[in-house]
Amino acid sequence: MILLDANEFSNLHYILLGEEEWSYLLQVLLKCAVMFIVVIATLRLIGRRGIMQGVFEVLTIIMLGSAAGDPMLYKNVGLLPAILIFITIGAFYRITDFIVAKYSLFETIVEGRAIRFVKDGRFDVENFRSRELSKDELFSDMRKEGVSHLGQIKAAYLEPGGEISIFYFEDEEVRYGMPLFPELNEQELNEINEEAVYACAFCGHTEKIKPAREYTCIVCKKKVWLKAIKERRIG
Ligand SMILES: [Zn+2]
Repeated sequence: MILLDANEFSNLHYILLGEEEWSYLLQVLLKCAVMFIVVIATLRLIGRRGIMQGVFEVLTIIMLGSAAGDPMLYKNVGLLPAILIFITIGAFYRITDFIVAKYSLFETIVEGRAIRFVKDGRFDVENFRSRELSKDELFSDMRKEGVSHLGQIKAAYLEPGGEISIFYFEDEEVRYGMPLFPELNEQELNEINEEAVYACAFCGHTEKIKPAREYTCIVCKKKVWLKAIKERRIG
């Protein structure tokens, strides 16, 4: 039989229990049971609609997560402060939720709002110029939805949660648009060599252009063009 000497034993004790004694495990059990009830009650209070929807909900969950975990884990953190935190945040949540439901301006501040980034087959530059939107990311998201060019899209929105929603033109309404394929999107032209329909590389405005040294986009005043495509959406 192998006996642990005092030093090894205390090491093992430290690894398993930290600075606590065995009896502390009983406290952990009790604290877990209480916090479990408190968390369930708070989530019920916040309500089904609330859980993990907007920025505000995520923030609430993060704040509650720490308050729920700490008293279970640490001996020197008691139950009552944690419970008070849950009650306070739960109450704040209900008050904010009530105000948000009543005043839409407040909702925009707390939750953010959907940003329209495509309108009638081109980028809605007036609407999102000032915002920090990554075109590459939007392109990638639209490609994942099977969009091959902007001419297929009637309107597209970036939702407050970060996902995009797209409303398409009917097949017969599909027009020429800026291609979203990386291979085509990289072929930027400064000079127009043959008559064809081109899309502004910045805003996606399309126009039939005759050969020209340079040509200015009437929408955004930029001078870089891409060959536009006009295929229907498949699937
Ligand atoms: Zn343009």
